Amino acid sequence: MELNAFEVAKKQIDIVAEEMGLDPNVREYLKRIERALIVTIPIQMDDGSIQIFEGYRVQHSTVRGPGKGGIRFSPEVNLDEVKALATWMTWKCSLLNLPLGGAKGGVCVDPRKLSNRELERLTRRYASEIINMIGPDIDIPAPDVNTNAQIMAWIMDTYSMNKGRAVPGVVTGKPIEIGGSVGREPATGMGLYYVLEALCEKLNLDLESLNIVVQGFGNVGGTIADLLYTEGCKIMAVSDISGGIYSSNGLDITKLLEWTKQGNYLKDYKDKDYKLISNDELLTLDCDVLIPAALENQIIQENADRIRCKIVLEGANGPVTTEADKTLFNKGIHVLPDILANGGGVCVSYFEYVQDIRAYFWELDRINKELKKIMLRAFEEVYAVSKERNINLRTAAYIIAVTRIAKAIELRGIFP
Ligand code: NAD
Repeated sequence: MELNAFEVAKKQIDIVAEEMGLDPNVREYLKRIERALIVTIPIQMDDGSIQIFEGYRVQHSTVRGPGKGGIRFSPEVNLDEVKALATWMTWKCSLLNLPLGGAKGGVCVDPRKLSNRELERLTRRYASEIINMIGPDIDIPAPDVNTNAQIMAWIMDTYSMNKGRAVPGVVTGKPIEIGGSVGREPATGMGLYYVLEALCEKLNLDLESLNIVVQGFGNVGGTIADLLYTEGCKIMAVSDISGGIYSSNGLDITKLLEWTKQGNYLKDYKDKDYKLISNDELLTLDCDVLIPAALENQIIQENADRIRCKIVLEGANGPVTTEADKTLFNKGIHVLPDILANGGGVCVSYFEYVQDIRAYFWELDRINKELKKIMLRAFEEVYAVSKERNINLRTAAYIIAVTRIAKAIELRGIFP
């Protein structure tokens, strides 16, 4: 059965609404998105033919500030997925107490099948199509799966050319040379590291002696694997879209990152001690910390019972379904939920946006200090609510996030 991420997102709202006794009118309101745009993107391919792609931009809630959320290029992108991702961005920004709302965008395309010129044309046409929906005080996109700093640079340029002036604040995750922020690229991984360290302290676990499994080896998965490897943890398995590799003695993450950064797949890495494993085998390995850092709906009812770790650290958005969440909770597995755990990215994106608007740039030391402060403040709030109410960390995180949104709706009132 194909799982619909937006149905998962709505179920999560129901769960938290029951737990906190949320006004039913607000509950219904939060299950809706504010607005969505579907665009057609015709692209002239290098061979002269024309291919047509579909793109989306969704704003779930701008009640606390302009929309914020990444842009994903993937053949699996669809409107409901983008709606779910936009909804999760609302909770994430609220939980971290950033003055931003939730948004997301995507194009249904396999970018690996495009040349660099085709990718640039696709990006620029998509940016033109959504131009009226984005802007520094409207909605600020950022990188997500299969998008990066170069793609953000093309969006910034397309927007700026249309406005007749440089507008760096229209996107975050840009190259530093055109208004990007130091520390943005590894920020999501850094945030994951801070909250994992904080949870280990609560659970009396020694971080350096943990055995780790990571699904996804891109920006998020690669960074957290690297940080934990450097700290001395044993990284037993990692995977990318080509499959997973495993070694009971631990993998050499530095070498694997060099390999994948040259555009290679993990499955093609040759080492006699490394064994190829499937996605299902990877997720169900016996380990201390499992880090899903690829896509949504990975830990589901069918495999939740077989998950064997102490902690699930959600690098990806929505990797665990609501049913699976219950199973993990009953098994005593601690899940550090996406809206908390992977919030480091949007946090430093917010710093980038502030720096662009003020045209004044911070040092890396300041970025990392402020990031840590925000991540740990959110972690402590979530942990306290989960203990007080004897609920899982996800529901606790949602209660804090939804309470802030509900208060903002009450204060602003319903227009007209
Ligand atoms: P990325 O494109 O840099 O990397 C994605 C990785 O996942 C790649 O290694 C890819 O090969 C792998 N992958 C794709 N499909 C897979 C599959 N079916 N099975 C196993 N691996 C697969 O993307 P990213 O920026 O690292 O994003 C990963 C996740 O983290 C997404 O859910 C994204 O929404 C979330 N996230 C990203 C950021 C950020 O700052 N980039 C912030 C918060 C959350």
